Amino acid sequence: MAFHVMLVPTLGCPSNCSYCWSSDENSSLMDIEIIEEVVEWLKTFRDDPVTFTFHGGEPLLAGLDFYRKALPLLAEGLSHLRPAFALQTNLWNLTPELAQLFSKYNIPLGSSLDGPKELNDLQRGEGYYDKTMHGYEIAKANDLKVSFICTFTSYSIDFKEDIFNFFLENNLNLKLHPALPSLRDENPDKWALSPEEYGELLIYLLDKYLENIDRIELKNIDHLCKCVFTRRGTVCTFVDCMGDTFAVGPDGSIYPCYRFVGMEEYVMGNVRDHPSREDLSQSAPGKLLEEYKEYVDQECAKCTYLKFCRGGCPYNALTPYEGKIKGVDPHCEAYKKIFKEITKRATKEMLSSSGMGMIGEDPGANKKVKPGIMALMLKPS
Ligand code: SF4
Ligand code: SF4
Repeated sequence: MAFHVMLVPTLGCPSNCSYCWSSDENSSLMDIEIIEEVVEWLKTFRDDPVTFTFHGGEPLLAGLDFYRKALPLLAEGLSHLRPAFALQTNLWNLTPELAQLFSKYNIPLGSSLDGPKELNDLQRGEGYYDKTMHGYEIAKANDLKVSFICTFTSYSIDFKEDIFNFFLENNLNLKLHPALPSLRDENPDKWALSPEEYGELLIYLLDKYLENIDRIELKNIDHLCKCVFTRRGTVCTFVDCMGDTFAVGPDGSIYPCYRFVGMEEYVMGNVRDHPSREDLSQSAPGKLLEEYKEYVDQECAKCTYLKFCRGGCPYNALTPYEGKIKGVDPHCEAYKKIFKEITKRATKEMLSSSGMGMIGEDPGANKKVKPGIMALMLKPS
């Protein structure tokens, strides 16, 4: 089974998004020596294919020189693990030189954009949109694949149609992200989406997606449909991520996921010590996540969707209670809502004699069959 290591070269970030929970302006930059230690650590850690995602903060702050050294070190030093790479960035600091380097290593980029300029800049700060779009042009010119994550907040949800149309009309792929309560804000719920709003948004976007299936890609909806179809999670939120995902912070500290980076109580070890899988699972955060898994097995035992939801994201579940296990992912209600809707539609389509909901002609009725949920379930990944 493949595993995932997120490399966080810094928690620093030049943008100042209103609802951000993950940046730290005093954060240091990762030294290349940490990457050398990552290589030594993973040489004997496990034998499975690995994906490295550079994350932040803003990972491009590490600079060209860092990536010129880090990428060959990882690719060649760990060639037996067939490493793949990805990078999550606001694109502001993307230069043609960096883009050429990323293209050489086939690195897909993920970026963040909340919709049309005015709305995006209101949530993410004045000037954000133009800087990101400038980087996007450089990425395109170098044949880099860019997918956008759009954060929906309690404010922007009222503009969901404008937002969807913006991505559609600009040929941009979209992954949605519900704003979480910010742990670093005096008013943590100001931007957060409630589970009800999130569930309704998912259903709304499912319909919009089906209307425009050949014009846009909506990653979350793809994943949700695939989860229901295959009856197993196809994205970290809906699997037991513990043990198969780790993050390395700027100083070499190892955490369960990038979301915990910078939170001292979630440090599992340090790459300099080359910990084994057993060492990490015996650390306090390792044990806590294992306990969370057992808690989910009990708490969600009666839920029809347990197999492909697995209690959602442990970060979402743990952090509102300062690391205490007091509930599952607060988006539970949203997940139930969308899983129920997908299951209902799939059952209806399968029972219907008018076909499987695929795009195309229905020879009997001699008219276009509207694409249905099965078209998304059977869509190649
Ligand atoms: S903690 Fe959440 S975001 Fe991180 S890997 Fe697990 S499910 Fe994904
Ligand atoms: S939908 Fe809710 S109850 Fe069901 S498995 Fe997910 S978190 Fe648990």
